[in-house]
Amino acid sequence: MVPFDGTFSVAASRTEPDISDLDEKYLKKKLSKANNRLYSLQRMLYAHNRYSILLIFQAMDAAGKDSTIRTVMRGVNPAGCQVFSFKQPSAEELDHDFLWRNVLRLPERGRIGIFNRSYYEETLVVRVHPEYLSHQNLVGETNTDEFWSNRFQSIRDHELHIARNGTVVIKFWLNVSKEEQKRRFIRRLDNPEKNWKFSSSDIKERKFWDAYMNCYQSALNQTSRSYAPWYAIPADNKPYMRLQVANTIIQTLETLDMHYPQPAPENTARFDEFRHRLESE
Ligand code: ATP
Ligand code: MG
Repeated sequence: MVPFDGTFSVAASRTEPDISDLDEKYLKKKLSKANNRLYSLQRMLYAHNRYSILLIFQAMDAAGKDSTIRTVMRGVNPAGCQVFSFKQPSAEELDHDFLWRNVLRLPERGRIGIFNRSYYEETLVVRVHPEYLSHQNLVGETNTDEFWSNRFQSIRDHELHIARNGTVVIKFWLNVSKEEQKRRFIRRLDNPEKNWKFSSSDIKERKFWDAYMNCYQSALNQTSRSYAPWYAIPADNKPYMRLQVANTIIQTLETLDMHYPQPAPENTARFDEFRHRLESE
């Protein structure tokens, strides 16, 4: 968990697991067990119908957001979870405050909402390329220290508000190394079935790597709080990363006081009668 006191350092955070000889088969088996556990927890979440879960995924390109979402949520009832991928904002979205389009997609009670990118882009890509701010028709001075500090304040206020109202917020930063990203981009170029994933703008963004890392450090320090913690997950080893994400979600869900709703006693008292009526049809 990223500490809540502003001491998180990107430079000190791992991109690789701390164990060197990880057995891929073993990790996959563990993930499959985690999938089953998540399935049960999600059923309970849905039946209990008090909490909702918001999972936020942020990362550099090719860190594996999509495949993590796919493999971790495998087995969970599709009716109980919703995934949204946030791209560049539309004209309509730009006519609202930066949280608006995200708020529209918050999960209902009993459901898991997954944000593949999120309002955090407003403190990442937009901070690295402040010219995007000119499309936002904002009031007052932009791109000053105070401006960014206000954006973080808005995010903290928003997350505290939804947390108070039953949304459990878990945020993942998939921390891929610059070297591993290069290897994955080359693989996308080499493999015809992966060509479609390659975009020339991905290469362009690599030039801003250090600026992105500074923005991630700032965003994680400013917004990792007990009510909405960040987790920095080493992302160079995919099976390891996926298992870490799954276990983090499971551990958080297990702390919730959830139970299946109890039928009213006057109903349970008549269960024998109902059974008898059905059997004698
Ligand atoms: P893939 O892994 O398939 O490349 P992706 O999430 O990178 O998935 P893309 O369509 O390649 O999807 O990229 C979406 C782009 O939208 C990203 O470059 C991201 O930075 C940008 N984006 C998202 N939110 C905002 C925002 N609020 N303002 C500006 N750009 C944004
Ligand atoms: Mg992309």
